[in-house]
Amino acid sequence: AAKKNDRSGWSFYETYMQKEALAKMVLRNNLRYAIERGELSLKYQPQVAAGTRAIVGFEALLRWDSAEHGPVSPAAFIPIAEQSGLIYDIGAWVLREACSFARRLALNGHEDIMIAINVSAKQLAADDFIDLVRNTLADTGIKPSQVELEITESLLMNSLEDARGKLNELRSMGIRLALDDFGTGFSSLTYLWNLPVNTLKIDKSFIDLILYDAAKAKIVSTIIHMAHDFDMLVVAEGVEQEQQLCYLNENCCDLIQGYYISKPVSETEAINMLGNH
Ligand code: C2E
Ligand code: MG
Ligand code: MG
Ligand code: MG
Repeated sequence: AAKKNDRSGWSFYETYMQKEALAKMVLRNNLRYAIERGELSLKYQPQVAAGTRAIVGFEALLRWDSAEHGPVSPAAFIPIAEQSGLIYDIGAWVLREACSFARRLALNGHEDIMIAINVSAKQLAADDFIDLVRNTLADTGIKPSQVELEITESLLMNSLEDARGKLNELRSMGIRLALDDFGTGFSSLTYLWNLPVNTLKIDKSFIDLILYDAAKAKIVSTIIHMAHDFDMLVVAEGVEQEQQLCYLNENCCDLIQGYYISKPVSETEAINMLGNH
């Protein structure tokens, strides 16, 4: 009887896996045409100074509104793009689109506003990544210092030595670098301080617990002070409440990003927000 249960359990699992695999395949096939069908767009989420709440920059966040599936979350399609290699074309599109936005901001007198762009570890690992960035900056005509590339901490650690060389090169071009989702892969703290990054983004999972977990709150303030010792700026991600912002400001966090300030918005709304400041 036990064996029979195992078998039916397994076949349920197998069917589930097949459905999963099939769903991924369908997504992947539609994602292949997303750029040319004009289904991709960027939203921009403001990053504000913790003290004055003045807008300092925006993070570009990719959106896919699929004719077939409706809006698909980046958490669902970015991994598929990475596994299938589509991330190279998509990443290049994101880079160009975000830099074009930075250019339009500069033309509107906002060349001090930074645009943060997410880069997956796979993009960074590509041989032509530096050239791609250099060409995109040249074509769009923006100052390198207006761009901050965000790289996820945990993914960086997989190929640290190759990454370090590239990061140094990007820095020498004048581009800013941020470590995204900091705190989710705590293993290699000692390596991290040797990386040429300007900004550390504390992961939302820590920010969520500030008000409920004294130890986590203490870790956050420790990270902030350590980062400052290494001349890094600190951004708190996913700030949703006034009291979180207060704690972060009291503990010297530089920048705040999260729904409490604003959700990611369209380019037009982003420009309007700047006008209002
Ligand atoms: P991330 O880079 O850590 O971006 C922050 C995510 O948190 C975004 O989700 C943002 O919308 C969300 N968020 C910001 N504030 C709050 C808040 O107060 N509460 C909550 N609940 N969420 C908040 P999103 O846009 O769904 O993106 C998810 C992830 O997908 C990003 O995490 C990033 O890793 C990846 N991603 C997004 N756009 C791109 C892209 O253009 N290229 C690459 N390679 N990855 C991207
Ligand atoms: Mg990010
Ligand atoms: Mg993040
Ligand atoms: Mg994240």
